[in-house]
Amino acid sequence: MDQAPFHAPSAADASPITPMMGQFLEIKAVNPGYILFYRMGDFYEMFFEDAEIASQALGIVLTKRGKHQGADIPMCGVPIHAAQDYLKKLIGLGHRVAICEQVEDPAEAKKRGGKSPVKRDVVRLVTRGTITEDDLLPTRGSAYLASLSMVRHGETDFALAWADVSTGETAVLDLSTAALGDELARIGPAELLLTEAARTTINEARLTLPDMAVTVLDAVAFDSEQAGTRIAAAFPSGEVDPTAFSRAGRAALGALVDYVRDSQKGVPVALRPPNAERLSAHMAIDAATRVSLELLETQRGAEKGSLRHEIDLTVTPPGSRLLARRLSAPLCDANRINARLDAVSTFVADGLITQRLRSELKAVPDLTRAVTRLALGRGGPRDLRAIGAAVSGAIALADRLATIADAPTEIATIAARLADAPAALASELADAIDDEPPLLARDGGFVRKGYDATLDAERALASETRGVVAALQQRLIDETDVRSLKIRHNGVLGYFVEVPAGHGGKLLEVPHRDTFIHRQTMANAMRFTTAELAELEGRIAKAHDAALALETAIFTRLADAVAVEQERLRAIADALAELDVATALAHLAMTRNFCRPTIDDSLAFFIEGGRHPVVETNVRAQHEVFVENGCDLTGGALWLVTGPNMGGKSTFLRQNALIAILAQMGSYVPASAAHIGVVDRVFSRVGASDDIGGGRSTFMVEMVETSAILNRATARSLVILDEIGRGTATFDGLSIAWAAVEALHNDTGCRALFATHFHEMTALAKTLKRVSNHTMKVREWEGEVVFLHEVAEGAADRSYGIQVARLAGLPESVLARARQVLGVLEQRSSGNKGVVLDDLPLFAHQPPAPKAAVNPIHDMLDQVRPDDLTPRQAIDLIYELKKIRDASRRN
Ligand code: ATP
Repeated sequence: MDQAPFHAPSAADASPITPMMGQFLEIKAVNPGYILFYRMGDFYEMFFEDAEIASQALGIVLTKRGKHQGADIPMCGVPIHAAQDYLKKLIGLGHRVAICEQVEDPAEAKKRGGKSPVKRDVVRLVTRGTITEDDLLPTRGSAYLASLSMVRHGETDFALAWADVSTGETAVLDLSTAALGDELARIGPAELLLTEAARTTINEARLTLPDMAVTVLDAVAFDSEQAGTRIAAAFPSGEVDPTAFSRAGRAALGALVDYVRDSQKGVPVALRPPNAERLSAHMAIDAATRVSLELLETQRGAEKGSLRHEIDLTVTPPGSRLLARRLSAPLCDANRINARLDAVSTFVADGLITQRLRSELKAVPDLTRAVTRLALGRGGPRDLRAIGAAVSGAIALADRLATIADAPTEIATIAARLADAPAALASELADAIDDEPPLLARDGGFVRKGYDATLDAERALASETRGVVAALQQRLIDETDVRSLKIRHNGVLGYFVEVPAGHGGKLLEVPHRDTFIHRQTMANAMRFTTAELAELEGRIAKAHDAALALETAIFTRLADAVAVEQERLRAIADALAELDVATALAHLAMTRNFCRPTIDDSLAFFIEGGRHPVVETNVRAQHEVFVENGCDLTGGALWLVTGPNMGGKSTFLRQNALIAILAQMGSYVPASAAHIGVVDRVFSRVGASDDIGGGRSTFMVEMVETSAILNRATARSLVILDEIGRGTATFDGLSIAWAAVEALHNDTGCRALFATHFHEMTALAKTLKRVSNHTMKVREWEGEVVFLHEVAEGAADRSYGIQVARLAGLPESVLARARQVLGVLEQRSSGNKGVVLDDLPLFAHQPPAPKAAVNPIHDMLDQVRPDDLTPRQAIDLIYELKKIRDASRRN
């Protein structure tokens, strides 16, 4: 979402403004486009337009504070302790927020005198793509920041650079306009940076884009000349050579790293050297196909019911994120696919080791995010502990992997990276940090006893002095004879003596008044201090401070040690995620009876006993059996699939696309056998979906998508078309569907499945060599249609639409009329007369059909006198009525 420029008055406006408002306006002016969270005490306050936007977005009260140029200043605020939740909501809505903190002690400001406000500065710019805070991040998803550059020289070249700021993963990809929509759909960025010109080009190309925040930057942000310097600054170790990227690639990466740097306000974000991706490395799956196949979420946006939800048996969040990435970008290189499959096969073959690895992996903490938090200075003792535990876990897993004989390359490289774990760091961390440390380092209390002798000595002193406090309390009780006297502590007074109100007077009198100095009178108690207590307090505080300083130093030293090992730790994190995915896919294969597909560079597409994994689960939940179906599109065959509504066409079509995707991501597949020659693109289109929001009608969407397929499919593609041509008049639709099949067969030669209700199209099988007819089998039983969900050769004789409508509960009168219309239509077309509208009973005179038509059932019933019937006659009558009804349906 874009934000309108901020229109608050500038600091330079003539009328007098308070010093604080002056400061606000100054900070606001250098952060245009951001809602400013302005820290005041325990609140972040917002003013002017920011307050109006935020109060509406967050549903919080809009108030006012003082006046500016004679008008009230709108204001609203959120308490610090709940700020993360509000921040999350604003960011989720696509707003950008600048966090402005007090950066000096208020006492310093007072010393300066006058009305000078406490110094404040923006410490963090939070946007949807630059989140590093855990509670704002999705655990199982990635929050990518993407940047799109555009270079025009005759043709338009684009480049995308993207990064997950929380893990450091970075990539760059050159691409054309045609591929842009597909790639954005694959990456699914949370935020996209681009110039106004690029935005206009995208709009003109009418691309369907995923839901994301769009941030328009000045063209200078994408300057390819400056990009080199920006990239070099972001990767200071010199391992990234800016000239290795195209001009567009450099520009995109330069804008990306600069935006990231700016967002963290000086805290360095360690991005990893970018992966230079190539389009051809991945199976292309465009946005509409992703939606249609419900890969990561269902068409309604739910996770449950998607392919990912069905197959994700990973046990760690990084594993789950990797699985989603692989599912979004299946490979095109048969060797790489087979290498992944080899790993899965090894784990399938040894279920016991797989089970052990999975239970050990489950206990390994999220290493990457802990490392990033520490690097950003937001880490705590728990992160150190997590890193220690993860590294020890990695070493144990490496040992277990080493027991696998003849491990394939994929497993060997995982094992090698795990074995390279910094064992010394792990044991240092385990020795240093308590088992259940507090969240924050600043309060201390996380270093294990026995780790550091000096720290132990200071702690002993602190607890010793506590013993001294207890002794002092006892002595004061004895001296005053007030049994209920207590020495207490709070943040305001420090240590103090407290007695119930009734005893207070005693301490104010001789002989005690020389010892006890009055501090506070409460409703029920009176508080005092003594010289001895004050001196003791000093000693305790000193010991405590000394201990805290030591702990802080230990924390910093260990965090530095982690930073030194950052690259190795991230490599381990990658290896752990890969191991999680490989073992999870093996577990999936074993529990769901998937088979290993044969993958090569042929044009095979042969599936035996294929299943749709999601529909299978649903069908089983109803205690029914999922019917397996084979499919053979080898060499560019095109199957025309006809059959009744609800017969299972869509399920069959999609299951073949899903099998191809699963196979190429390196997974076993839901079939008893599968041979697939690498598919370069999958297209899946379902007629009759609309894009009202995008201003395109049902039929328009269908045609735009169909033309994309015809233009872009290659002989290596897999094309699935479900009921194309249904959104318009019958003959237009039929003609388009007909021509599309011819084009796919003659020009593209791809492997294709084409489901249709236009039975006329089955004639194509006679003329087109690689087109064959297939149908979903049904059986009629006592006038009812029974779906067998079985794909057989041949064409369906009809659609059974009326029977399905009946199952759906359409009123009997409407069904009867529909049957009548159908009867006439069928008669006309079989008589080869051609259907002329006037011939149809479409505009038959009122009264409506059931009443107008001679109805034998009504006739019979008219003649019956129920009271005269014997039970036997009544039963016979019912049979008779049913017979008549069945006969009338068949006509
Ligand atoms: P329509 O033409 O109305 O869109 P369709 O022929 O495409 O229908 P599907 O949506 O694929 O039908 O399937 C309808 C239902 O049939 C599914 O929801 C599922 O419950 C069941 N079904 C489909 N395929 C099978 C199968 N192979 N085995 C068992 N049940 C199946």
